[in-house]
Amino acid sequence: MGFWESYKRFPVIYKILIGFILGIIAGIVVGPSIAAIKPLGDLLIRLLKMIVAPIVLFSLVVGAASIAPSKLGKIGVKIIIYYLFTSAVAVIIGIFMARIFSVGTGISLGGAQKQIAVKSPPSVVSVLLNIIPTNPFAALTEGKVLQIIFFAIVLGIALTYLMNSKNERLRKAGEVTYRVFDGLAEAMYKIVRGILEYMPIGVFALIGYVIAMYGPKVLGPLAIAVVALYVGLFIHIFVTYGGFLAAFRLNIIKFLRGAKEAMLTAFVTRSSSGTLPVTMRVAEENLGIKRTVFAFTLPLGATINMDGTAMYQAIATFFIANALGIHLTLGQQLLIVLTAVLASIGTAGVPGAGLIMLAMVLQSVGLPLTNPNVALAYSMIAGIDVILDMGRTMVNVTGDLVGTSIVAKTEGELDESKWK
Ligand code: ASP
Repeated sequence: MGFWESYKRFPVIYKILIGFILGIIAGIVVGPSIAAIKPLGDLLIRLLKMIVAPIVLFSLVVGAASIAPSKLGKIGVKIIIYYLFTSAVAVIIGIFMARIFSVGTGISLGGAQKQIAVKSPPSVVSVLLNIIPTNPFAALTEGKVLQIIFFAIVLGIALTYLMNSKNERLRKAGEVTYRVFDGLAEAMYKIVRGILEYMPIGVFALIGYVIAMYGPKVLGPLAIAVVALYVGLFIHIFVTYGGFLAAFRLNIIKFLRGAKEAMLTAFVTRSSSGTLPVTMRVAEENLGIKRTVFAFTLPLGATINMDGTAMYQAIATFFIANALGIHLTLGQQLLIVLTAVLASIGTAGVPGAGLIMLAMVLQSVGLPLTNPNVALAYSMIAGIDVILDMGRTMVNVTGDLVGTSIVAKTEGELDESKWK
């Protein structure tokens, strides 16, 4: 097997970790002259920037359009409310963790270099009004993420109505348009996969540069970010999920006993979509959920419900802001809640997808990757993504199963003899 073949076979996420470790070593050994290879890192950042606006548009149009109004029965409404609510709670826990652990402080990337001008906080009303683009095409070209999201969701919903129309012309037009967007979204995921293949090299160059310029002292804050996320995830499982289950007279420990196979699979595969078959099996066999419920709620959850990812995005955003010495205002924190929930909806259930969508959250709070310091801090987070992805994916899948259990119980579709 040639070198290229073996390179391609080796899981990308480990390559990124190896790039990260080698980059640290190179940064220490080579010192400041490593700046010569920084363009390799800048290339990665440009590739990521390139993909953000189109991936948000295409994947959210498809996401919004795949929830057909006809399917949105009682079960659909309940599960979507649950999914959105718990994701928002996860982000809020993430923000608390980020603040308690002061993630990202002590790196001081801002230093003497040029800072992002911190604007005075906009009022909540103007933030909300600003979500609606006056010109969706301008929003796309200027990379105004929230505006793109708004327009994509509206467009997706309009498409579902077309696809369910009685008028044949409208129905056909809707279906063709949907397929075009679906194809474009899939093409974007392919591009993302390509970018991820390049990421080890980009991360190598960026982290090497950071270490050479700022010294190995940046490693401590990274370890703290990992701890902050895992503590947050633990709280989310036992307090949020535990509380929800208890409110419906279900026991979290018995739940975990039934769900553990799916949780473990998610942890090691780092893919909610890849875990779906296992998730469905434990729902049926261990948790006694009827197929009529989980056949709809679990695939939907694997696509749109990512509590772990939402929490991770909040913590990572704080990490990057703090690393640059930027204080996030209350308005910006509210924006994080909003965009992290939306970003988690738009995240594909595959390894590393949350890292790509993080770029979107960053942009919405005014920390664009084009700022060189943001790019550096981002590369640090990217370097340890494998560790963060395992935990967040496990919680993503756990959340789907908790919601599905609760909805099944309220519908009388839960065989509780399995919970004894
Ligand atoms: N790996 C996650 C999942 O499949 C998505 C992410 O990267 O956050 O659920």
